[in-house]
Parts: sequence; structure tokens; C-alpha cells
Amino acid sequence: MKKINVTVKRPNLLWRVFMRVWGVITFSGYIVGFTTYWGTVLIRKERWHDKRLLAHELTHVEQIHQLGALKFTWRYVKEFFRRGYRDNRYEVEARENALYRTMETINRFNIKFK
Ligand SMILES: [Zn+2]
Repeated sequence: MKKINVTVKRPNLLWRVFMRVWGVITFSGYIVGFTTYWGTVLIRKERWHDKRLLAHELTHVEQIHQLGALKFTWRYVKEFFRRGYRDNRYEVEARENALYRTMETINRFNIKFK
């Protein structure tokens, strides 16, 4: 299977502010990683080498890649209101990949660290 291209970056100030807000909205506290729609994963510098976090965020890249940004967002929001943040199926899948399929998930990507 063809690998998905992705760039891993540190979030700039604007993104860090957004991640704080997102953390409050989702009741998940301090957010260390965030996946954008544009093939970019943002990871705070203190978690730069966290493979499980990377696999978690890459799973979201894959979900967006498979469904398209619109459908993914719609379904994610629906799941969010039905089941909340932690139990929404996209987060469950991301957590399971991170925990049990870390390297397998990472290896499905062409990753550029910037
Ligand atoms: Zn997630």
C-alpha cells in the first residue's frame, strides 16, 4: 500500500492557543498533539519523541485521508455529542493504534520532521 505523506511540526503560538481551547472544550486538559486537515501533525516539543502519541495523531491523519475532511468532521462531531471525547470511535481507534499497533501505524506513513 502507498504510504501517506505527513509532516510533523511543533505548533506555533496561534496553534498552541487553539490547542489550549480545544483541551478545554473536550475536557482533556493540556493537549500535546493535534492533527490538522493539511497532512500536518502538531506535537509539542517536549513530546517530540513520543512514538505512541505520534501513532495516535497519525491515526487521525489516516481517518481524515479515508473519509475526507468534511465527512470526517461531521462524523467526529456526531460521535463527540453522542459519546463524548474519549469514547468517540475515532479517539478509541487512535488510542488502540497508539497502544497496540505503534510501529505498524507509524510505518504506514512517509514522515517528514520539520
Ligand atoms: Zn485523538
